[in-house]
Amino acid sequence: MITRMTKLFVRTLREDPADAELPSHRWLVRAGYIRRVAPGIYSWLPLGLRVLHKVEAIVREEMNAIGAQEVHLPALLPREPYEVTHRWTEYGPNLFRLQDRKGSDYLLGPTHEEMFTLMVKDLYSSYKDLPLSIYQIQTKYRDEARPRAGLLRGREFVMKDSYSFDIDDAGLQASYDAHRGAYIKIFDRLGLDYVIVKATSGAMGGSASEEFLGVAANGEDTFVRSPGGYAANVEAVARPLAPAQDASAVPAAHVEDTPDSPTIEALVDLSNARFPREDRAWEAGDTLKNVLFMLVRPDGSREPLAIGLPGDREVDTKRLEAAIEPAELDAFIEEDFASFPSLVKGYIGPGALGLAEDGTGVRYLTDPAVAEGTRWITGANQPGHHVYDLVAGRDFASDGVLDVAELREGDPAPDGSGPLSLARGIELGHIFQLGRKYADALGLKVLDPHGKLVTVTMGSYGVGVSRAVAAIAEETSDELGLAWPRNVAPFDVHIVATGKDAAPLEFATALAESVSEAGFEVLLDDRKASPGVKFADAEVLGMPTTVVVGRGLADGVVEIRDRATREKAEVPADEAVERVLALLGR
Ligand code: ATP
Ligand code: MG
Repeated sequence: MITRMTKLFVRTLREDPADAELPSHRWLVRAGYIRRVAPGIYSWLPLGLRVLHKVEAIVREEMNAIGAQEVHLPALLPREPYEVTHRWTEYGPNLFRLQDRKGSDYLLGPTHEEMFTLMVKDLYSSYKDLPLSIYQIQTKYRDEARPRAGLLRGREFVMKDSYSFDIDDAGLQASYDAHRGAYIKIFDRLGLDYVIVKATSGAMGGSASEEFLGVAANGEDTFVRSPGGYAANVEAVARPLAPAQDASAVPAAHVEDTPDSPTIEALVDLSNARFPREDRAWEAGDTLKNVLFMLVRPDGSREPLAIGLPGDREVDTKRLEAAIEPAELDAFIEEDFASFPSLVKGYIGPGALGLAEDGTGVRYLTDPAVAEGTRWITGANQPGHHVYDLVAGRDFASDGVLDVAELREGDPAPDGSGPLSLARGIELGHIFQLGRKYADALGLKVLDPHGKLVTVTMGSYGVGVSRAVAAIAEETSDELGLAWPRNVAPFDVHIVATGKDAAPLEFATALAESVSEAGFEVLLDDRKASPGVKFADAEVLGMPTTVVVGRGLADGVVEIRDRATREKAEVPADEAVERVLALLGR
């Protein structure tokens, strides 16, 4: 198949789109692969659609290879099933809700656990029907708070979602392992550099889950790795509670006047000058900082939350957001202080925190470092005052442990496998062992071999198909434009004819025909534009191989350019077909 540039529906742009922060976004728009319609909503142009279809084909092949069967459900869905699983509310503002002419509620599917569960319930009734894995490649809708970077975080996007149905835990494990294997093949074939990390299951519910993260400096997810093989999204890291300390020698708690110490640094300096510690100097990590947040539940109700953590750490809001899902995070503002007069801004201490017997007050959760017997300097709930030698367990208690502090390079891995290093990634896929949550809620039961009704156990597995297009662009593009790996490039080869003479275009066309007849897809630049324009476009469009047929033809040579390495090689014109086919793996 030959596509001529004179006919191709494309315009390359010289300017970056105003909202493009990341290379993938910039180049997919500038190269004419996608066009923005509204925030997080894009149209696919011919070149972009070709890449999307190639990614889809790889995903499809690997899903079929594990025996999963393709189906296609609607994107427009009725409210009731999502009401039964509480996701109509729990999905919160991320759900696109709408009404039909009769006033009935509908939604645009953000993910399809409910519908797949009901479909299997509709048709299957025996253990003999299982195991079953079914999937779709379909458009999903989520009203993301921060649509970002073109296709990376859209409000409309393409996902492959599969669901497994098994009679028992061993079956679920096998289905999960099969999907995990398929995902490894998919992301290998897409040429992505990725890691598999422990993940939280978020709004999906369920237990074991792993994410496939594309390693990318611009990724939104942060993950940790240890030399001993621990790998987890920071959201899924749970540091163990620190060992209890013997506090028998710690003096009784005492409140001190600590003027001009609004920052941790000033407090530490003042403490060392005025209340020196007997064994060593005070450090930021000896202070207990209490940070306030407001949680907003899916039903709109608000609950304050105080988090106590060592003064040398910050709260990682992404870890916190993951921990409080489905509630969302809001700032604790001036007006909120007015509703809780016992909280003295800047000097909040455990004394004013914690839920009373009747559930009123401010829920107080502490970092795993705040173990029994640990000794702290913290707010005394009076302006300008701090309390010293306040011992956890002896002088105060919290309502529980919450590990949402920012992790640092060198922190120990929770499983003892060595110091952690941090890196960023793009979530490409997520595999979950859902268990029986949806089957229970929606009543998916089958008869077991003994004729007893048992609840089916499920897995749910997603690949961000449109996000993968952007992730590949993010990883492979350079300052000249896109640079696709062969497996997903819109065309196998880009043939550029230059010069005013007829000969180069004739030769280029013949070459294109030969390569096309061998079963490859060819983009032929047959425009009258200058060589400079054509070369620049070839670099922006990013086909892996470009053949330049120009002045050299008179001397019997053409040039083959590799987009990724930028290597150029002159080859005899009469060997051009052979050389190109060899590059394409023929
Ligand atoms: P994220 O944390 O990035 O919001 P998620 O945990 O909400 O992702 P899932 O619900 O597990 O994602 O969806 C499965 C896959 O769909 C993800 O692994 C990701 O690749 C893709 N995906 C999710 N949200 C989007 C989006 N807004 N735009 C594009 N792809 C997305
Ligand atoms: Mg999400």
